[in-house]
Amino acid sequence: MPRERLEKIIDNFKVRFERRKLKEELNKMRPLAEIAAKLNERYFSGKLKINSIEYATDQNSRFGCCNRRDATIRVSHRLSRMPEWVRNYVIIHEMAHLVEPNHGPAFWNIVSRYELAERAKGYLIAVGLDSENEQDLENP
Ligand SMILES: [Zn+2]
Repeated sequence: MPRERLEKIIDNFKVRFERRKLKEELNKMRPLAEIAAKLNERYFSGKLKINSIEYATDQNSRFGCCNRRDATIRVSHRLSRMPEWVRNYVIIHEMAHLVEPNHGPAFWNIVSRYELAERAKGYLIAVGLDSENEQDLENP
């Protein structure tokens, strides 16, 4: 095997290993479950059922995704370094997808319950994470 190719494989392996390690560290204490529970109470009258919510390290341009079928939410690890009010917006955004799959008026109506939604949207666009890049996995 050419040396160059071997180095590429090793680099790839290192990146994957680092990502996995970071993911494990970020999710160790299940920090998002508690936050989501609080946001559920406050913005959804505690009605949402979320099976799991965790940081993902394989989403570079997306801020999060929501799988409606199994009620799981994944948010970008980049959010762990952003202000709490921005992170909360993303969690609320993904939680709203459990109710409304598409970015229609009904969806934004739910999201706007969060007082800082518009500011957070601007923040995310500025750092290159924006809902235009979001992939809603379970959309019909
Ligand atoms: Zn969305």
